[in-house]
Amino acid sequence: MHATLKRFAAHSLRAAGTGVRASQNFSVTNNFINRTTIRNMASLDASKLEIIKTTSPKTKLPNDQLVFGKTFTDHMLEIEWTAEAGWGTPKISPYHNLSLDPSTVVLHYAFELFEGMKAYKDKNGNIRTFRPDKNMIRMNKSAARIALPTFDGEELIKLIDKFLLVEESFVPEGTGYSLYLRPTLIGTTASLGVGTPDRALLYVIASPVGPYYSSGFKPVSLEATGHAVRAWPGGVGDKKLGANYAPCILPQLEAAKRGYAQNLWLFGEEGYITEVGTMNAFFAFENDDGTKELTTAPLDGTILEGVTRDSILQLCKERLPKEWTVTERKFTIHEVEERAQKGQLIEAFGAGTAAVVSPIKAIGWKGKDIEVPIVAGACGEVTKSVSEWISAIQYGDEEYNGWSRVAK
Ligand SMILES: *Cc1c(COP(=O)(O)O)cnc(C)c1O
Repeated sequence: MHATLKRFAAHSLRAAGTGVRASQNFSVTNNFINRTTIRNMASLDASKLEIIKTTSPKTKLPNDQLVFGKTFTDHMLEIEWTAEAGWGTPKISPYHNLSLDPSTVVLHYAFELFEGMKAYKDKNGNIRTFRPDKNMIRMNKSAARIALPTFDGEELIKLIDKFLLVEESFVPEGTGYSLYLRPTLIGTTASLGVGTPDRALLYVIASPVGPYYSSGFKPVSLEATGHAVRAWPGGVGDKKLGANYAPCILPQLEAAKRGYAQNLWLFGEEGYITEVGTMNAFFAFENDDGTKELTTAPLDGTILEGVTRDSILQLCKERLPKEWTVTERKFTIHEVEERAQKGQLIEAFGAGTAAVVSPIKAIGWKGKDIEVPIVAGACGEVTKSVSEWISAIQYGDEEYNGWSRVAK
């Protein structure tokens, strides 16, 4: 193996996630690697942060004019990586364009991955993130899958905290308002060769956003989509790779032409329900004996490991009344259709950081609509409870299991 590749392999093999330093782990994962070279490769280190503040602050939009992902804060966070030196000096500097050689690998072979998380202002003015450790673990898994460098997740969280303190005045106040954070990692090697990038850039940008639903929930209609497939076994649908998203736009436009807001992604001849748009999908059923079930597809490699999904499963197992069981299992569009006919489909919703939950009112399937009952014209009871429970933790109104982290 080429020396650069060896170093890189060691880097990628490192346990994804938080708290593990490169220097501690190499001897375990890869004995054959030259130790001296490794020791010289710097791991991500938040204490090296340099900050250059803008001299031309932007005028801030009033809350009611915030549009998701359209306007950004004054600064960005960047860290360069090279195969020779490892992670460089983290920098917060005025928001700027990137300058890339037209041959850069990210532009040709989609060496790109991202995260989506939010920062919330609590009633004491603290800025909080919600389970950021989960995002770091997922980001490292995405990075390892496309041969981009992994990093110490806790160090990036510390850097994001510092970034949030610099951008404090951009975090909008009020329930439903937040600062959307977009950590991104790209391969920046300038070469048309298809191979392991030896340069990368990790950056974080931030966009102030308003509530997904400005006045109550807006339940959506979905089209069950079997002709286009979002993810498949052995594929990368469980990673937040940019390459997964562009191919989903055309099927969405086609569904929109027929009057449906999003695709309900099916998989296989059985018609397994996987996800909805870019959210995880939850369905609530009543059983013949009157017990109830909340279910979502299992993490079999075709499902994105949503932080919201995981949080909903844990909270619902603890908090839903006794007659409920909470499961992760395979279920099909046929089961949903059958149970709806029997009056046993109670609720359905999508789950993700953007909206927390997004109630579903109907599913187009084989030229007919499967109707989901919507209590009180807005959403079902489980949907409503889940939304309230998670939002209380995100905004620091309730402390739960250390899920909310205050930026310091
Ligand atoms: C990001 C994403 C989700 C939701 O993940 P959260 O961590 O809850 O925001 C679900 N499905 C897909 C395809 C996604 O990209």
